[in-house]
Amino acid sequence: MSPFRLLLFCFAWLTFALAVGAESTPAKRTAARATRAEPEEPGITFNSVHVDGPYIAMTFDDGPSATLTPKLLDLLAAHHIKATFFVIGENVAEHPEIVARAAREGHEIANHSWSHPNFGKMSDEGVRHQLQQTDDAIKNATGKRPRLLRPPYGSITAREKRWIHDEFGYDIILWDVDPYDWKRPGPAVVRSRILKETRPGSIVLSHDIHPGTIEAMPSTFDELEAKGFKFVTVPELIRMATPRPSHPSPQPGGNVSPSTNGSPSPTPSPASSPAG
Ligand SMILES: [Zn+2]
Repeated sequence: MSPFRLLLFCFAWLTFALAVGAESTPAKRTAARATRAEPEEPGITFNSVHVDGPYIAMTFDDGPSATLTPKLLDLLAAHHIKATFFVIGENVAEHPEIVARAAREGHEIANHSWSHPNFGKMSDEGVRHQLQQTDDAIKNATGKRPRLLRPPYGSITAREKRWIHDEFGYDIILWDVDPYDWKRPGPAVVRSRILKETRPGSIVLSHDIHPGTIEAMPSTFDELEAKGFKFVTVPELIRMATPRPSHPSPQPGGNVSPSTNGSPSPTPSPASSPAG
């Protein structure tokens, strides 16, 4: 081999070695990133929880109501049921004593915005203001900061979920049982819808600002108890989470994809519903 050809050979080999090296490093990084990214955003968003026992969470939104929430608190106390209240900041500022009572009686108080806007269509600054004002109002009323958020209408983007979780520490709580009580279909319909849809691990949505909802509750509680369900708050339900038995394929998007410990739940997305 002439010195020239040897030089050419060495140059070609070096080029090849560098190319392989350059190829393999980002490839490894990509693989590592993909591994870390799955499951997607574990434990941030829940609309039901996979549990081993007959546990469910009753949730009541949009209050407190001056007249209906105290009635509901009496009912819950009579049934020894702990519920979760997603309160509106404006209403908390108006009736802090009702929220204080609910917290004292063992219910979970959670953030449902200051004035019920659509987070999916708002600036980050607007959302931040809604959350912080309500967080402060709940802290003033109960002495404790909330740890859960239910976005009004279930409307929230994947990006908002991420930064809200990072800044406020909130889990994002949706639901899997929706009786559409805000349409005021009457207590019997509210009850029958809840009884039909509730499963172990369900998060049941309703609103303590509609008289028919409160009217439906005594018999709803009786019948859920007769079916063997046990009532816990949403944080208690999340603490009971066990891995889902199957391994469903990851859901695209993630905006409204329900996840519990990273496992997508088969329940329908509530985000398109005008409830919440
Ligand atoms: Zn609401």
